[in-house]
Amino acid sequence: MLIHAPAPTTNPVALSYELHPPRSAEAAANLATTISHLEDTSPDYVAVTYGANGSNQDSAFELLSRLLRETTIRPLAHLTCVGTPTGRLRGIVDELLDVGVRGILALRGDIPADASWPPDDGLRYATELVQLIRDVENQRTARLAGGRVSVGVAAYPTKHPESPTHSHDVEVLLAKQQAGADFAITQVFFHPGQYVDLVAEARRAGVTIPIIPGVMPLTNARRIGKLSELAGVNPPTGLQARLDAATSQSERLRIGVAATVDLIRATLEAGAPGLHLYTFNHHVSALAVLDDLELPRPSRRAEPALA
Ligand code: FAD
Repeated sequence: MLIHAPAPTTNPVALSYELHPPRSAEAAANLATTISHLEDTSPDYVAVTYGANGSNQDSAFELLSRLLRETTIRPLAHLTCVGTPTGRLRGIVDELLDVGVRGILALRGDIPADASWPPDDGLRYATELVQLIRDVENQRTARLAGGRVSVGVAAYPTKHPESPTHSHDVEVLLAKQQAGADFAITQVFFHPGQYVDLVAEARRAGVTIPIIPGVMPLTNARRIGKLSELAGVNPPTGLQARLDAATSQSERLRIGVAATVDLIRATLEAGAPGLHLYTFNHHVSALAVLDDLELPRPSRRAEPALA
């Protein structure tokens, strides 16, 4: 089977979600419910995050295996290279392919404050991880059940904190494509113009791979505040205040979903080839956003008939 995660032939708009490996038995039980709801929307794939330094490697592998074993969902495994010796990284890529993963998001991860940088025995940038994945894959071609591994990378609608300029980020994205990346998923952004500008600059620079907008449901004021600090960008004017002033969860959901739908519609109208929703392991706001968007997608699985 040939796998290109974000560019399905039958669905006009690709759909994917991000999940985090659960940290407790209770979180795992809640996640099972979320996965079942998300599966009903027939996503093209579901991404599983990975702690820098491999801090949650076991739980990430467990979640990936569960998705492969118990659901129809194709997983996309995040993999970070920071803090991991190159030989070990090669082993991890081999293990991912062994369990049946065929999509990997190649990331560097944030450099820990106490790390010596650049590393003596490790990779410096995500571009090198893309090359390493392709290298491991090429050495295994005979053993893979057909097709290529789909390799994704990160893209930044607002400048990466370590980058000197936004144009530098675009050059890095082009280098990731040249190293063998098939698609990119963006960091969180709050204004459609930031996504549109990134895509326009990337296309001018020669980037041809799909750039999928990564969107967070804007229903949680605290999370928006935290992520706007991280991405260095202000959320839409007044949104946090309106969420704070809401007197019920359903009102917060209504306000946040409307803002998220506006953001997504604007990116789709500008030509975005898909939508990647950062779920934070909650399905309610993600599904509410989808319901309002009415994306051209396959219909949800029919409910079993009542006896
Ligand atoms: P890189 O592409 O290597 O870039 C890192 C910095 O180095 C940038 O400033 C870049 O401009 C610069 N750079 C790159 N190449 C060169 C070069 N050749 N010369 C000079 N400068 C260069 N983090 C996690 O820990 N776990 C996750 O699961 C995770 N998932 C993510 C998913 C998405 C969609 C995104 C957008 C981010 C995710 N992150 C995750 C965060 C990510 O690890 C950080 O943003 C990290 O700081 C950079 O990762 P990168 O892959 O973009 O690195």
